[in-house]
Amino acid sequence: MNTTYDVIVVGGGPGGLPAAIAAAREGMKVLLIERSAALGGLANSGLPLLGFVDRAGNHVLGGIPQEFVDRLAEVDGTLGHIQCPIHNSLTIINPHWFRIIALEMCQEAGVDVLLYAELMDVTTTDQRITEITALCRGEIRSFTASVFIDATGDACLSTKAGALCQKNEKLQPGSLTFTIGNMNKTRFLKYLEEHPESAKLPDTYGMAQTHEQFFDAKAFTFTGFAELIALARQNNDFSLPRDRIIFMTLGEPGQVMVNTTRANGVDTSDYESVLQGEFACHRQIKELMRFFKKYAPGFEDCYLASISPCLGSRESYRIIGEKTLTSDALCHCDIPADTVTLAGYNVDVHVPYSEQLSLQPVKHAVGVPFGCLVSQNIHNLMAAGRCASVDSSIYGLTRIMGTCMGMGEAAGTAAALALRSNIELKDMDGSKLRDKLLKNNVILNIGKKWTPAD
Ligand SMILES: Cc1cc2nc3c(=O)[nH]c(=O)nc-3n(C[C@H](O)[C@H](O)[C@H](O)COP(=O)(O)OP(=O)(O)OC[C@H]3O[C@@H](n4cnc5c(N)ncnc54)[C@H](O)[C@@H]3O)c2cc1C
Repeated sequence: MNTTYDVIVVGGGPGGLPAAIAAAREGMKVLLIERSAALGGLANSGLPLLGFVDRAGNHVLGGIPQEFVDRLAEVDGTLGHIQCPIHNSLTIINPHWFRIIALEMCQEAGVDVLLYAELMDVTTTDQRITEITALCRGEIRSFTASVFIDATGDACLSTKAGALCQKNEKLQPGSLTFTIGNMNKTRFLKYLEEHPESAKLPDTYGMAQTHEQFFDAKAFTFTGFAELIALARQNNDFSLPRDRIIFMTLGEPGQVMVNTTRANGVDTSDYESVLQGEFACHRQIKELMRFFKKYAPGFEDCYLASISPCLGSRESYRIIGEKTLTSDALCHCDIPADTVTLAGYNVDVHVPYSEQLSLQPVKHAVGVPFGCLVSQNIHNLMAAGRCASVDSSIYGLTRIMGTCMGMGEAAGTAAALALRSNIELKDMDGSKLRDKLLKNNVILNIGKKWTPAD
């Protein structure tokens, strides 16, 4: 294993993977450091990838994100992009295949991958990161690189490097997702037919879901059962801070992924807080399993099939970049000239310290400018994924996995171009970067309509 690299990416999730692959494909010597035993980050939970199709029906993610989906399709590891009235599109993936494909794609590109390697210390001199250390199963290793990309989700690298960062006082709650087996879809659909009000969305969603849509869909997300929660609460059988159950059907018959636990006040950049969140969510899964079996039609004989590897964080630290994406971009659905990826989802906020979720539909994709990936004060640092520079008012739009993957590809490509031209990241020639991204099938403008055959 080398110790000196052109580019080091910390975090092997949706943001970090394309960053490492893109930089390595441009001929850079790349190290990817991941603290868990597998690549994938939250994609390993089995949640569907969102963000490939915008509300107007445009296909907005090509390049490496789409390549992941194509590679998954080769092994029957995805159902492809499926239309969804709430999420625009759902790209259901098999998480086990995702981690295999992720490792394969990194190795094919020539990325050196470290698993079981947690970032420990960062040395910053004259506003540049000069060295980092990682704890690799008890062994401390040091590395250096010309450019560093923070894809840890929580901006671990950036905060340790002294980069300017922001974090809201009230954070969106974290959740631990889990999978249920042996759900009887016929019984569930029969209940919906008899109780269409069960699928009625609250006003805070700004969009509608009708029960009919569930009948023909290859896969779907369901948000509802408010009436069953109310009944269970009356019987002292439900204490979670949630007003609706959210689950999505997966590729395997009878399996659904439940996204309903809620750890309010948890900050995943704080160790004690993570522990509290994990403990609370494990307790909630037990309660939810009891709820499903006792109250939810179609779930009478279900079983707990798996729990996601770790508590998922919706929000913690983000860098302050050369630019920050703000809700101004929503006024006209801006796609500025320096766009390096398209964010084609809706503004999805799990309201802190409440039972609710608010969803603001966004008419079509918005552009993420390059400057959102570049640290304002640490010259050789970029962020990709959840910790990029996005204002809290619009953060619910960009934090999804598809968009994080798009940011990753842009960051890795930019790192390579900057190093090759011997320039600072902030001085990147935007048109050169965009030309390179377009050549690699990245979609930087709307207009390519998605059809189920895509
Ligand atoms: C409950 C929940 C449900 C969601 N549902 C969806 C959904 O249905 N679809 C969707 O598209 N998005 C969904 N999201 C959002 C999405 O999953 C995340 O925002 C996205 O995964 C962020 O990608 P990332 O690469 O920035 O971070 P992550 O996916 O968190 O990946 C970060 C990686 O960095 C590693 N890492 C962290 N710190 C260190 C360190 N110090 N040293 C080394 N490695 C480190 C982690 O182990 C991880 O592998 C959901 C989020 C949550 C919490």
